[in-house]
Amino acid sequence: MLCIYLSISQNAKEKALFLPRKFHDMKLYEYQAKQIFKEHGIKIPRGSLAESLGEVRRVAEELGGKVVLKAQVLVGGRGKAGGIKKAMNVDSAVEIAEKMLGSSLKGEIVRKIYLEELLEIKEEWYLSIALDRVEKCFSLIFSTAGGIDIEEIAQKFPEKIVKVKINPRWGLWDYQIRDILSGAKIRNDLWKEMAGIIRALYEIMMKYEAELVEINPLVLTPKGLIAADAKISIDENALFRHRELEDLREYVGVDEVEKMAIKAGLNYVRLDGNVGVIANGAGMAMATMDLIYLEGGKPANFLDIGGGAGAEIVKKAFEVLSADKNVKVVFMNIFGGITRCDEVALGIVKAFREINPKIPVILRLSGTNEEEGRKIIEENLQGKVEIVKTMEEGAKRAVEVAKWQ
Ligand code: GDP
Ligand code: MN
Repeated sequence: MLCIYLSISQNAKEKALFLPRKFHDMKLYEYQAKQIFKEHGIKIPRGSLAESLGEVRRVAEELGGKVVLKAQVLVGGRGKAGGIKKAMNVDSAVEIAEKMLGSSLKGEIVRKIYLEELLEIKEEWYLSIALDRVEKCFSLIFSTAGGIDIEEIAQKFPEKIVKVKINPRWGLWDYQIRDILSGAKIRNDLWKEMAGIIRALYEIMMKYEAELVEINPLVLTPKGLIAADAKISIDENALFRHRELEDLREYVGVDEVEKMAIKAGLNYVRLDGNVGVIANGAGMAMATMDLIYLEGGKPANFLDIGGGAGAEIVKKAFEVLSADKNVKVVFMNIFGGITRCDEVALGIVKAFREINPKIPVILRLSGTNEEEGRKIIEENLQGKVEIVKTMEEGAKRAVEVAKWQ
C-alpha cells in the first residue's frame, strides 16, 4: 500500500528531497568570500559592491575608471559566460552594468555587481583546499594552469596539478607547503608570500568548517600576490555554529513563505496545491500527501515537524501555513511516539491564541497521550479544529473542506 502512495506523489517527493537549500553546502558570494580572505591577511584587489547603475558609476569613479565588473552569482565559470567584463572608463563601466544587471547568467539573475580595480596580471595559479570525503582528509591543490576551472585543468593538463593530503588530525605542516611549492616549481622569491596564503586558507577552512576554499586565479601583480577570485563553501550541517555566516545568506529563488520556514528551522517545501500538511516525520508527511492525492486533492506543502516536536514548533508551522495564501485547509496528521499528543495539542492551542489562524484545521491525533491531547483540543478549540479518527478520513475531509472554501 505504501508503495502505491509513494509512487503517486513522486514528483512532490523529488521536490522535497532535492531542494537546493537542503544540499550540504552554503556557497558564499565572491564579494563575501573576499572579505573573509582580507580578514585573514590574503590580499584582494580594491573593490566595492554595486546594486544599481548609480552605485556602479560612483564605485567606478572611486576606483579610477579602469575596472573589472564581476557579476555576483553562485555559478562558476562566469568569465566564459560573459559575467566578467573589463571597462576602461566610467561611462563604459555603466554601459556594461546596464546590460549585466537583471540579466540571467547560467540561469541565475544578476542583482549585484562587484567592481574591482583592473589588475596587471603577470602570472596566474590555481590554489584550493577541499574536503575529500572519500580519503577522509583535506586536499591542498595547486596548479600552474590558473584561471580555468579545476575540472578542466584535470582533464586537459593533469600533469599541472600538484596535490598534498592534509590529515585533519595533525593539521597543515610546513613541509607540506614546501612539498606543494616545489612540486609546482614556484620561484623561491615567492615562497614566503605563497606559504602565508596557504596557511591563511587552511585557517579559514578550519574556522568556518568549510568544504572548499578556492583562489582561482591567484595572480602575480607588481603589488605582489593577489586573490583575483574567491570561493568559499561551508558545510550546511555546521552552519549552526557560525551564526555570523547565516546573516550573509541570501535567499535567492526563495519566496517569503519559504524564507519564513527556513528561518523557523522547519523542514518545509512549498508545493502548488491548497491542502496544507503538517505531519511528524518525513515518511508520515509523504504518506499524508499521497492520501490527499488519492482523495483527488493537492497538497500545498510538505512539512515535517519532526519527532518530539513541542508547542513552539507547532506554532511556527501554523504561522508558515497561514502566510501561504493558497492554503484553504490544514490537515495535521500526528502519530505520537516520542512526540506527545498533548504537547502537540498545546502547540495548536498556543498557535490559535497567538496568531489565530483563519483556516479550518482537520486533526488526526493518535498514539502517546492521545486522550489528553484530544481533551485539550475539545476544551479549548471547539468548532475550530475538527478531530478525525484515521488519516484516511482526515485526508478525505481535508480535500472536501478545501473544495468548499
Ligand atoms: P570565474 O570565471 O567565475 O572563475 O571568474 P574570475 O573571477 O576567476 O575571472 C575570470 C578571469 O578574468 C580570471 O581568470 C582572470 O584571468 C581574468 N581577469 C583579467 N583581468 C582581471 C582583473 O583585473 N581582475 C580580475 N579579478 N580578473 C581578471
Ligand atoms: Mn575564477
